[in-house]
Amino acid sequence: MTDTLTDVMTRQQFIGGAWVDSASGETLAVENPANGRVIANVPKSGAEDVDRAVKAAATAFETWSQTTPQDRSLMLLRLADAIEARAEEIGRLESRNAGKPTQAAIEEIPVVVDNLRFFAGAARTMEGKAANEYLAGHLSMIRREPIGVVGSIAPWNYPIMMAGWKVGPALAMGNTVVLKPSARTPLTALLLAEIAAEILPPGVLNVITGTGDEVGTEMVRHPGIGMISVTGDTDTGKKIARLASETVKRLHLELGGKAPVIVFDDADLDYVAEQIRYFGYWNGGQDCTAATRILAGPQIYEKFVATLADQVKQITFGDPAEGEYDLGSLIARGHVEKVAGMVERARVGAEVVVGGHAPERPGHYYEPTVIAGADQRSEIIQDEVFGPVVTVQRFTDEALAIKWANDVRFGLAASVFTNDLGRAFRVAKAIQFGTVWINEHFTLVSEMPHGGFKESGWGKDQSAYALEDYSVIKHVMAKIS
Ligand code: NAD
Repeated sequence: MTDTLTDVMTRQQFIGGAWVDSASGETLAVENPANGRVIANVPKSGAEDVDRAVKAAATAFETWSQTTPQDRSLMLLRLADAIEARAEEIGRLESRNAGKPTQAAIEEIPVVVDNLRFFAGAARTMEGKAANEYLAGHLSMIRREPIGVVGSIAPWNYPIMMAGWKVGPALAMGNTVVLKPSARTPLTALLLAEIAAEILPPGVLNVITGTGDEVGTEMVRHPGIGMISVTGDTDTGKKIARLASETVKRLHLELGGKAPVIVFDDADLDYVAEQIRYFGYWNGGQDCTAATRILAGPQIYEKFVATLADQVKQITFGDPAEGEYDLGSLIARGHVEKVAGMVERARVGAEVVVGGHAPERPGHYYEPTVIAGADQRSEIIQDEVFGPVVTVQRFTDEALAIKWANDVRFGLAASVFTNDLGRAFRVAKAIQFGTVWINEHFTLVSEMPHGGFKESGWGKDQSAYALEDYSVIKHVMAKIS
């Protein structure tokens, strides 16, 4: 079926400043998950296309890496302005391709713009340590240099935002980029290429489309790529890390999450439940930092489950083309089946308090769901659902809350809700997550790093730490006497 809104779009990919088909001429169909209809065809690329893109990026690197931070900063600022000017168009396209509510998709664009502006400014602040004679008669200096061609592999959950997070620091540091969006959501990355074509020199940003198994694997294998930056599933990150070892590539891995939310007995329950209503289910729970795993204090557990259930029952979902709902669809039929399977298996030993079904309708939907009382070692607590499913467990004391919070293989983000300041900071120190929020969940800011511990990966997005990740340190020593 084709989407009735418009004809099916045909898109080419962007290599070396030109719009081209895949070398094989094959294409991939792109779906609108909110109604299950095909909305576009894009090139289905392979090894030859990757090679072409890497060569274009390597050629562009020769001049791009010689530009001053000021030059790159001005271009990134112009790119940010151009994206801002087309925010509504980008957001609407994202909504159609990812099944997100239209307004929510449009509201993601200022975040992309701010991120690019941050890196435009930060590019001008990078420095090595001061020069010195550490050995008599020898002058040492530290240079911070770009890596070369960066292969950026993006996920489907925030397609344009994740593309922006990758492109900003890589280009700011003087690298060139081959960007591969998810095969499910390539459309806004291609629009980004269209916008960038007016601003960046040819080959500085290349966008190629295709599957992870083909294009992604070929990028990881290609000796001309110096670093792979991937945001995706932890198993994908492990595969990439294994393959990248063959060429000893640098890696930037932003992988899965399973965020705990520790709610102590003194917290404001109505406030916390409202936070979870939004930040447990935002983007249909398809968010690596989603507030998905609530650990509630012994005195408030029952009341909290009831309060959260009341909140979650109010969440609306539906096709963004038919109205403004809190949630859109999930990304794919197979993903709904994965979520449904995990909820079904959780029913053994836990209670599904709200939701727990996939409605019969076109598109890929799953009801906002609350599960209470699951065992700490059960699949629903240990594995990433990446859907609109929040669990609530009862802990007995602070030590057990910390133990359970840490007892997963992930370590991306967490939060603590309490009015006891000492306890908040004590727990924030004890839990092993890359971001810990206190009396808050979800808020990001361009100046501060985002990235995981443990199997959530390594490397930081956002902040000056990302610029460090996208650069290499060189020691230059001169004999001066
Ligand atoms: P995914 O792992 O299926 O795909 C991510 C990207 O990797 C896609 O572009 C895909 O084509 C590519 N890919 C897949 N297999 C590959 C391979 N073998 N070699 C090279 N590339 C390959 O992930 P997804 O389903 O698109 O995204 C959801 C996942 O992303 C979740 O696990 C989520 O937690 C994670 N995520 C993490 C962050 C973070 O900041 N840590 C942010 C957003 C999403």
